[in-house]
Amino acid sequence: MATVRYDKATRIYPGTSRPAVDSLDLEIGDGEFLVLVGPSGCGKSTSLRMLAGLEEVDEGAIYIEDRDVTNLPPKARDIAMVFQNYALYPHMTVYENMAFALKLRKTPKHEIDQRVQKAAAMLQLEEFLGRKPKALSGGQRQRVAMGRAIVREPQVFLMDEPLSNLDAKLRVQTRSQIATLQAELGITTVYVTHDQIEAMTMGHRVAVMLDGVLQQVDTPRALYDRP
Ligand code: ADP
Ligand code: ADP
Repeated sequence: MATVRYDKATRIYPGTSRPAVDSLDLEIGDGEFLVLVGPSGCGKSTSLRMLAGLEEVDEGAIYIEDRDVTNLPPKARDIAMVFQNYALYPHMTVYENMAFALKLRKTPKHEIDQRVQKAAAMLQLEEFLGRKPKALSGGQRQRVAMGRAIVREPQVFLMDEPLSNLDAKLRVQTRSQIATLQAELGITTVYVTHDQIEAMTMGHRVAVMLDGVLQQVDTPRALYDRP
């Protein structure tokens, strides 16, 4: 687990005049579930990708647990990320998909097994471990993608619109599964969505962005009560 701090982090894409993210100042607490919300194009993904090391930081800095990670490559940051297009390995079973990153790290087999079984139990995937992704529903696949991310036990967990490919009913179900998972793991989490209801129901705190600028950060309750 870890805290995250954006310190005036700015991203100006080459060939553009206006920053996609402008002097972002934001602190995320240890074990906190922070939701970054705002309309399409407001800079949510860019903010998340800067934290993951997938996007350059042109000005300012980003810290994970007081370590300046601004110029570190993605692999040197202890972060796992889940996207909307979950991109599982089609030729591998659910078990193998979840075990893959651990195998690459030469994690002992019994430990891989322990971690995969634990994640599968949390995500209600136990009965699907032997299946290939194509034999799963969209919601199940998305849960496998999350399982694959969390078995590594990263310091920080990032999700970018993970529910946008699911139908409305499944979205609501998966929302609460993610919230439960995050609470059980107690992992510092940043979750990006354009959906205000998702933001207000899932986040410990909600950060609202508009045109690359952070507008306000507060608990859902406080944001709701504000005129
Ligand atoms: P969001 O995730 O809120 O939809 P993004 O972070 O994807 O917003 O985009 C923020 C702004 O940066 C938008 O105006 C978008 O068009 C622009 N942008 C995103 N990626 C690039 C890129 N690779 N090159 C130039 N502009 C980009
Ligand atoms: P390898 O190719 O190195 O044998 P596998 O991923 O095929 O690795 O399996 C490694 C171990 O993981 C197996 O010996 C087994 O204990 C466990 N395992 C694989 N698939 C499943 C599954 N569906 N359910 C439970 N355990 C599994």
